[in-house]
Amino acid sequence: MALIDLRSDTVTRPTAAMWDAMRRAPLGDDVLGDEPSVRALERRVAAMLGKESAVFVPSGTMANQIAIGCHCRLGDEIIAHGESHIIHYETGAPAALSGCMIRPLEGEGGLFAPDACAGAVRGADVHSPRSRLVVVENTHNRGGGTVWGLAQFRAVARTARRARLAVHVDGARLWNACVAEGYSPADFAAHADTVSVCFSKGLGAPVGSALVGSRDVIDEARRLRKRLGGGMRQSGLLAAAAMYALDHHIERLAVDHARARQLGRELARIRGIVVGPGPSRIATNMVFFQLSAEGSTAHEFCRRLRRHGVDMIAMGPKRVRAVLHLDVPDDVVARAAEAVAKAVRPART
Ligand SMILES: *Cc1c(COP(=O)(O)O)cnc(C)c1O
Repeated sequence: MALIDLRSDTVTRPTAAMWDAMRRAPLGDDVLGDEPSVRALERRVAAMLGKESAVFVPSGTMANQIAIGCHCRLGDEIIAHGESHIIHYETGAPAALSGCMIRPLEGEGGLFAPDACAGAVRGADVHSPRSRLVVVENTHNRGGGTVWGLAQFRAVARTARRARLAVHVDGARLWNACVAEGYSPADFAAHADTVSVCFSKGLGAPVGSALVGSRDVIDEARRLRKRLGGGMRQSGLLAAAAMYALDHHIERLAVDHARARQLGRELARIRGIVVGPGPSRIATNMVFFQLSAEGSTAHEFCRRLRRHGVDMIAMGPKRVRAVLHLDVPDDVVARAAEAVAKAVRPART
């Protein structure tokens, strides 16, 4: 039987219908400014997020780093949660590309309070770096796929604005947050200057992300994209896949969320495993769990699990992550839970 790959929601292959949309896409040259499918996608995404402009980029990392490059200058400080993607998974790019440092905040599940944000803003003292930007990640990956409530984000954004800081949302999985929490992408984006979104995660497109914001910021973003080598030519192929995903793969994210909750409930019954932050708190498509202290490491566990037909990913010495997505069989929950039960007790397998 084929391996069930739950390492990430990035592992999906295009569906047959998505391939058809890609084959039919009218193409041009996006660097020369006449790629019709990319133009259409950019207009669509800007409208969905209630912003003036959008730019299509190869990855979420590039979208985030272009945003940082647009908002910040050398020596500036970014305020973000200590578990953020921009800290852990973007190769030190805020420092390497934009000369910025990051002030890490604490808070459960990757969220933080307006007061914590206000407390991190530097004064005008000549000794200090300049606070310039607040980055909010929604959903929060290392936090457990957690969702920012609209009221809490609005309060953080207000705090930032009062201190004259810009606000960027790392919305790689903003679509999941919207489906889980019931707000629209535009409701959330209204409180941000820029938002990055990914089509390559739960939406199931093979490649691609976008950055949205005001016309001025996105004009600058287009220059930075070119500088970073992200100017693509017949990228309408990819834009067509993203457009198809926006049309057909947003509402179905609720299926991934329901399966994640189910999987959490099943795993919680297995001895030697603690589902965390707790099965009732699985908010979107991610399930994190902790292996008991005396057993094997997460890496060893994942190796055994693979022999039982399921792939998950080690996210810490004892922490494992499973992510639901559209490219799994209907009996994914039962099969994944069974494989975990076998892999957690190696003596009996
Ligand atoms: C995946 C992800 C990104 C972008 O990742 P790429 O692999 O560069 O597309 C950014 N932020 C978060 C929270 C992510 O999960």
